[in-house]
Amino acid sequence: MSKFAKFRLNYFVSDCEKDKDIMGSVVYCIHHKEGCKWSDQLRRLKGHLQTCKYDALPCTNHCGAQIARILMDDHVRYTCIERVIKCEYCNGEMKGEAAGEEHSRTCPVEPIHCEAKCGIKIPRRMLAKHKVTECSKRLVPCRHCGRQFVADTINSHTTSCPRFPLTCPNRCEIVTIAREDLEHHIKHACHSMLTSCSFKDVGCRFKGLRGKQMDTHMEEASQQHLTLMCSMVTKQQQQIVSMKKVINNLAVNQSGTLIWKISDVLEKLEEGRHKLCGDGLELISSPFYTSQFGYKLQASVFLNGNGSGENTHVSVYIKILPGEFDALLKWSFSHTVSFTLFDQSEKPCNIVESFVPDPSWENFQRPSTQPDSLGFGFPKFVSHETLLKKRQFIKDDTIFLRIKVDPSKIVAV
Ligand SMILES: [Zn+2]
Ligand SMILES: [Zn+2]
Ligand SMILES: [Zn+2]
Ligand SMILES: [Zn+2]
Ligand SMILES: [Zn+2]
Ligand SMILES: [Zn+2]
Ligand SMILES: [Zn+2]
Repeated sequence: MSKFAKFRLNYFVSDCEKDKDIMGSVVYCIHHKEGCKWSDQLRRLKGHLQTCKYDALPCTNHCGAQIARILMDDHVRYTCIERVIKCEYCNGEMKGEAAGEEHSRTCPVEPIHCEAKCGIKIPRRMLAKHKVTECSKRLVPCRHCGRQFVADTINSHTTSCPRFPLTCPNRCEIVTIAREDLEHHIKHACHSMLTSCSFKDVGCRFKGLRGKQMDTHMEEASQQHLTLMCSMVTKQQQQIVSMKKVINNLAVNQSGTLIWKISDVLEKLEEGRHKLCGDGLELISSPFYTSQFGYKLQASVFLNGNGSGENTHVSVYIKILPGEFDALLKWSFSHTVSFTLFDQSEKPCNIVESFVPDPSWENFQRPSTQPDSLGFGFPKFVSHETLLKKRQFIKDDTIFLRIKVDPSKIVAV
């Protein structure tokens, strides 16, 4: 209806005759639908619209929107993008949403959390200073070692900082000294530290101040130091000897079986032959034990024979040497002893001789420190004929002889 009225107003604007009639007709306000109850002659409509609370006006903030007069106040205050925005923190007033948003990001008074997560909320304008001077999570250099630490851990660092200044426990002339240097200072440099004479390990008991006092001692005690050194050397010499003995014992065969390799047989045989006047050439084995704490034995061989085998046979003997554990062993020695000469051919046929010592035999009683010279054995162990011509007892000019001592009294043949 309102639009219709407007149309008619325009249509008949120049028709003077009918103008009066129309302008006098009663119409509703063009905002009747929105709720305006105004109704009057058409000619008064224009005047009404100047005050009609439903009529739209351009926003007084100049945001460009057309707003009904009745809504203008609300619009200007709350929804207009050009409204005045008041900051709840600083009470500052900003014109327009954009400026308000900009301010909310920068308001110097708004309390905000420190980014370092120290737990503090602080006005924005104080934050920069907080981060540098107060924040418990800021990095600060240790003033002793210069390394950077988070502020709230620096106290615990101080208790271990290698450069933290300490005082010398000897109260020497050094006022303070870095923690990491203190040990060296006490050991090597502190002049208030009583130190031991460097000959302490050989028995000098002198203690004195490093420097002059120690120098004097060194001069005065040189003779004494030399004596101490001498007796230390002697003592060590004795230790070396007894250690050698232990080592030698460890290296000694303790299996009760000796495999004896004799090389250059022909040459040795020849040598024995030319010593007809003497006892012939006796070859002596390395000593061996029947067990770790057993009897100590030694074998000997006359390649050119001895006694009844002289010049015709190889003679073999075994004798008991004074051993470490003789005092604990059973006497007389009664183990079975066997001698084996190895045939080195592919299908070997070894020569074996053995015996069980008779308890009455002298040779097998507990030996004195002077072992008996020969021992017991077989003067005619193997004939030269057999040795040189039969089978392969000699190979590469070498023979192998096994001497086995067995506590079981089984005689191998
Ligand atoms: Zn109206
Ligand atoms: Zn507006
Ligand atoms: Zn503000
Ligand atoms: Zn902080
Ligand atoms: Zn430090
Ligand atoms: Zn000191
Ligand atoms: Zn000394």
